[in-house]
Amino acid sequence: MNLRCFTVGLFQVNAWLIEDPETGACVLIDTGESDEVASELAALTPRPDLRAILLTHAHFDHAGGLVPLQALYPQAETCLPRLERPMFDLLPRQGELFGAPQFSKPCGRIDREIDDDELVRVGALECRFVSTPGHTPGQGCWQVGGHLFVGDTIFAGSVGRTDFPLSDPGLAQKSLAKLMTLPGELHVHCGHGPDTTLAAELKGNPYLAHVRRALGIKEPRGGYARGGNWG
Ligand SMILES: [Zn+2]
Repeated sequence: MNLRCFTVGLFQVNAWLIEDPETGACVLIDTGESDEVASELAALTPRPDLRAILLTHAHFDHAGGLVPLQALYPQAETCLPRLERPMFDLLPRQGELFGAPQFSKPCGRIDREIDDDELVRVGALECRFVSTPGHTPGQGCWQVGGHLFVGDTIFAGSVGRTDFPLSDPGLAQKSLAKLMTLPGELHVHCGHGPDTTLAAELKGNPYLAHVRRALGIKEPRGGYARGGNWG
């Protein structure tokens, strides 16, 4: 499969375009907060054949660009984690909740609500949803082949914040433990910041001490490489 990353907006969200090289069919993981990704796609020649928009969660920086994308691709099926509906419905008020009304966004259209372990098929691409709630009620990851698109579940050397409205820190800890049961070699594409692998995070992420303890893995000697504190 072919991958292209668009890093957009004030919060430098990574939105990912995945193309099935056989058919040219594409999926997009997350939208950014504005019309930036839609403009990028519209400018490409040939214009990508976008069939599905898969959301990791519904914070405005990840889902706020849905309306311009759906105007450009009205036929694309938009998939939202089912448990994320309460956060999605808050999009028109999220800006005020975060103290910045300019980030309140219209909701756009959801075509399909997704449960844990559900598959979305586009061309030869099989996109499997892995529910990892905590950062938000329905935060999740999309696994496509050997790639895992994790939204704000985990970052290189850090994890998604759990001090936001509707966050659940206890649930986030359980989700991180669940994530670490997936193959360590999976290539992890974070919603902000650089890529990593699950194995690298299990080894050195300071927020995974509880997982290491449960698995009997020693804490790294000489301290951690702590990553950025993203949203
Ligand atoms: Zn978020």
